Amino acid sequence: MTPEAIIQLEDVTKVYGAGDAQVTALKGLSLSIEAGAFIAIMGPSGSGKSTLMNIAGCLDRPTEGRYRLAGEDVSGMNKAQLAHIRNRKIGFVFQSFNLLPRATALKNALLPLMYNRHAPRGRSEREARAREALAAVGLAERLHHFPNQLSGGQQQRVAIARALINDPALILADEPTGNLDSQSSAEIMGLLHELHARGCTIVMITHEADIAAHAQRTIHMRDGRVVDLPDQRPPAAPPERTLSDPERSRRAKWQSKGAALVAERR
Ligand code: ADP
Repeated sequence: MTPEAIIQLEDVTKVYGAGDAQVTALKGLSLSIEAGAFIAIMGPSGSGKSTLMNIAGCLDRPTEGRYRLAGEDVSGMNKAQLAHIRNRKIGFVFQSFNLLPRATALKNALLPLMYNRHAPRGRSEREARAREALAAVGLAERLHHFPNQLSGGQQQRVAIARALINDPALILADEPTGNLDSQSSAEIMGLLHELHARGCTIVMITHEADIAAHAQRTIHMRDGRVVDLPDQRPPAAPPERTLSDPERSRRAKWQSKGAALVAERR
C-alpha cells in the first residue's frame, strides 16, 4: 500500500440481495487515491459509482475485499465504529443538498457537531464554528435563513459548510452541481478548488465532462469495475483555412458528438 493513500480499496466486491434478486454492484474493484488529490468519477448509470462512494464514505461495507481509509482498515468495522470514523474524517455533499428544511443555515451547518464527541460541548462554541464555516463559503450574511429562503447555489454552500465543520480530510461529493445553473455550478466548483488548495482530498461523481475537467484525474467505471479510458476530449478542430466559420462549427459539433458516442460504447 502507498503510505500517502487516503482511499485504498483492494479487490472489493459488493453484493446486494440474495438468490435470484442478487446484484453484484462492485466486482473486485481495486483503487488507490492519494491524499490531497482531486478526483472525478464518471460512468453510466448502474456502473457502481454510488456503491463505491457509500463504501468509501463508510456508509456501507464491502461484501469482500479490504478498504483502508487513511491507512486504517475499516472493512471489518461495525456500524458504530464506521459512524465514528465517518464523522471524524469525511464530509459529504449531495446533489439534492440534503438540508433539514426546518432548520436555519446555522443549525444545518452545525449538525455534524452533535455526533462528534470531540466537538465543543457549549452551544455558543458550536455556533461560532458553524458561523466560521458559513463565512468560509460566503454565507456570513445568511446564517438565519431557512433552506427555502436560499437559492440552490446557496443551499449547496450550506451543505459544503456542514461538510467542512469537522475539518474532514476527505470530501465525497455526489453530483454536487447536478441541480444547479451554470453560474452556481461555477461557484461551487470554485469552492471545491479552494478546499482542495487547503489540502482536502476531493472525490466527486459527475456526469458532466466539463465538471470532471476540474479534477486532476478522472476514474471511469463500467459494470462494477474501474476501466482505463483514453482521453475523451473531442478531436482538434480542422485547419482554419479549409472551412468557413459556420461549417467549422458544425463539423466541430459533429466530431465531439461522435467522440462521446464512441466513448460510451467502449
Ligand atoms: P450508479 O451510482 O453508477 O448508478 P449504483 O452503485 O447505484 O450505480 O448501482 C450499481 C448496481 O447495484 C445497479 O445494478 C443497482 O441496481 C444495484 N444496487 C445499488 N444499490 C442497491 C441496493 N441497495 N439494493 C439492490 N441493488 C442495488
